[in-house]
Amino acid sequence: MSIPEIKRVLLKLSGEVLMGDQQFGIDPAFVADLAGEVKAAKETGLEICLVIGGGNIFRGMAGAAQGMDRAQADYMGMLATVMNALAMQNALEQLGVQTRVQSAIEMDKVCEPVIRRRAERHLEKGRVVIFAAGVGAPYFTTDSGAALRAAEMKCDALLKGTSVDGVYDSDPKHNPQATRFDTVTYDRVLADNLRVMDASAVALCRDNKIPIVVFSIREKGNLARVLSGEGVQTIVQDQ
Ligand code: UDP
Repeated sequence: MSIPEIKRVLLKLSGEVLMGDQQFGIDPAFVADLAGEVKAAKETGLEICLVIGGGNIFRGMAGAAQGMDRAQADYMGMLATVMNALAMQNALEQLGVQTRVQSAIEMDKVCEPVIRRRAERHLEKGRVVIFAAGVGAPYFTTDSGAALRAAEMKCDALLKGTSVDGVYDSDPKHNPQATRFDTVTYDRVLADNLRVMDASAVALCRDNKIPIVVFSIREKGNLARVLSGEGVQTIVQDQ
């Protein structure tokens, strides 16, 4: 099954895809490759919003597990997403792709605040808009930030680029018999806790009828293949 006709997408990348083969942080060569994928997708005429996680640097839950105050740790996680957004902005602009970063936590020395109408204008002008700092509040994740921005910016689909090539009925890393869905409903994802994205993010997409396309961003050229309907992916949508 191919993905529906799309003109504007929100691409969500987990922070961990920025670390390449490292255990932590940002691998600039890998970020440059990712930027190349985004550029190729943009050259097909798509308008692209980007949300990048922060898990390659800091996750609030991990800090809380080690005794930190959860909200404090979450704010650190949000700051990590701003660093990743700036790294991606740098890589895209080195390839000649115009970008703007808009952060849900205002940081006027390094980026714009989130202003929807301004983001619209950037997209009209062919710029990639990178939304940083998730929803700007603790106890959320960048998946929720991605769903929120996808709804706000009226994106036709939320593309979730991860290390696996779709949604499975059980964890393929632990169960060799796990099978991948071509399509699956939002309700099944939520009822079976299929761990595509946070439940709040999935529910927001369901309520706003935004298809979620889960695919592997680790394979070169895969973003373009998925967008042309030739890739391997799982589409989460209503039946
Ligand atoms: N975070 C948050 N609110 C948000 C977005 C992110 O508190 O709206 C924090 C949270 O601590 C999270 C961290 O930022 O663990 C990094 O984001 P996320 O875990 O979503 O990154 P990813 O797993 O996609 O790399």
